[in-house]
Amino acid sequence: MGNDALTLKAMVASAARLVAFTGAGISAESGIPTYRGADGVWNKYDPSKYADIRYFREEPSYYWNFFKDVRCPVLKKAQPNKGHLALAKLEETDKLSAIITQNIDGLHQIAGSNRVLELHGNTRRILCLECGELYGIETVYRLIETQLPPRCSKCDGVLKPDVVFFGESLPPTVLDEAISVSRDCDLFLVVGSSLVVQPAASLPVMAKENGAKLLILNKDATPLDRMADLVIHESASVVLDQVCGALEKSAIQSQT
Ligand code: NAD
Repeated sequence: MGNDALTLKAMVASAARLVAFTGAGISAESGIPTYRGADGVWNKYDPSKYADIRYFREEPSYYWNFFKDVRCPVLKKAQPNKGHLALAKLEETDKLSAIITQNIDGLHQIAGSNRVLELHGNTRRILCLECGELYGIETVYRLIETQLPPRCSKCDGVLKPDVVFFGESLPPTVLDEAISVSRDCDLFLVVGSSLVVQPAASLPVMAKENGAKLLILNKDATPLDRMADLVIHESASVVLDQVCGALEKSAIQSQT
């Protein structure tokens, strides 16, 4: 375990209200590509067509073809990695008060985390744009075998993953809660985010301005590195697993 991970462990150990803020980087090691960076999805697919609500309303089958051919195989295979599991363990020990995530893959919940604030929605939840009926992803996996775009069985409306597309607002109650936990925490841990997508990227600034320590664990540099108390440019799953293991060991030693 390196010095940075040891420092991170000490900061987590002494924190009373830790908030984790996660991005696509934490799920990269589960096989879900990030949007930006060399292998990012937006290098191959134009976001103004695949993730824009106006375009989706005009041509929903364009998105659903992409979903079926590109997203489905990845989503079906992806499992939480040691990074997701470490955060779930930190919640179990009451160390972590909430995860704020930009991810839409649902892997934190599959790993066992309960208090997950999804700023950009969840792609495993599917919504009818007409009547608001919700469907699970398994139903939609079946529907898209024969129907693109998939349609609501109640009103025949077009279905869309319950995620925030360009041109849509963030869910206001989730955003309010995220702002509130960010202002209230004493340690704000960014994991696997380029910190360029707004308004999500303003949450670490809010936390810092309200007196929290700011830690950034991300492979590449971010625009907020300069204001952070600790920056680690390493793999999220490796470092979080080490930190969580070391915390567990210390807890066992203090009991004996
Ligand atoms: P981003 O793609 O802008 O940045 C990801 C960051 O993760 C990069 O800076 C990269 O250096 C870092 N990274 C990659 N692998 C890593 C690893 N193993 N360990 C640590 N860091 C690693 O992602 P973002 O900041 O989350 O913003 C992008 C938007 O894309 C979000 O709004 C999100 O909704 C969406 N998105 C979600 C998923 C998902 O749900 N898994 C995947 C791709 C994009």
